[in-house]
Amino acid sequence: DLALEMRRVEYAYRRDVALRGISLAVRAGEVVAVTGPSGCGKSTLLHCAAGILRPQGGAVSLVGRDLAELPEAERTRLRRTQAGVVLQFGQLVPDLSLMDNVALPLLLEGHDRDAARRAALGWLERVGVAGDAAAVPGELSGGQNQRAAVARALVTGPAIVFADEPTGSLDSHAGEQMMELLLASTRDGGAALMMVTHDNLIAAYADREIRLRDGVIQHEVALS
Ligand code: ADP
Ligand code: ADP
Repeated sequence: DLALEMRRVEYAYRRDVALRGISLAVRAGEVVAVTGPSGCGKSTLLHCAAGILRPQGGAVSLVGRDLAELPEAERTRLRRTQAGVVLQFGQLVPDLSLMDNVALPLLLEGHDRDAARRAALGWLERVGVAGDAAAVPGELSGGQNQRAAVARALVTGPAIVFADEPTGSLDSHAGEQMMELLLASTRDGGAALMMVTHDNLIAAYADREIRLRDGVIQHEVALS
């Protein structure tokens, strides 16, 4: 059962070739860290895997479905329902309450408002910020916003969560708590986790480390 499969994925920006043929698979429930020096292609890999960037070469499949072979509406739907995304600074909608931010992915999928809000509140409770459900992101700390971002990533019941430097904006204690939360939440939600980090302490939480160098996989190591 594969949550994610990438085959010979290539991605180039206007001047820089960022990925030079990346092949990997993430099994259901697996926790994978993508590591390597700055500029080696970690973020680009994550964005291609999550269907945010379209690679110029190779193929990306989520839950066994090749993104390039789906009509656009289906691809968007698959991305929204099967891939949760947590970015470095939370990336919540500033004008919406935490509750509505977390409910949003369900509303976009056509769930009714009450059901979406109930599910959102359930996830806000699990990540420990239900007391702030009515607040907007600007009223809360970075850590509280990151917690809500985790809830938003999981509310649709995705097969995999993609996290880009999830602890990057937090101090080391808050960073550890965030990792514990991400691991517990993805485990609870039955999701795999692929996270990008340059921090070896964070990478140590994974089942497997995939180390990139200059757009290729330098090596893979099974951990724990
Ligand atoms: P990492 O996440 O490991 O730091 P990135 O995926 O951000 O690496 O970057 C890989 C390469 O692609 C680097 O050479 C970087 O300069 C380049 N790059 C990243 N984003 C862009 C962009 N938006 N436009 C042009 N080049 C980019
Ligand atoms: P933009 O230039 O607007 O950022 P891109 O050309 O990078 O757009 O492509 C983003 C679009 O490509 C998204 O709509 C996304 O759903 C789709 N897409 C992402 N991954 C793939 C893929 N592997 N194959 C085909 N389409 C993809």
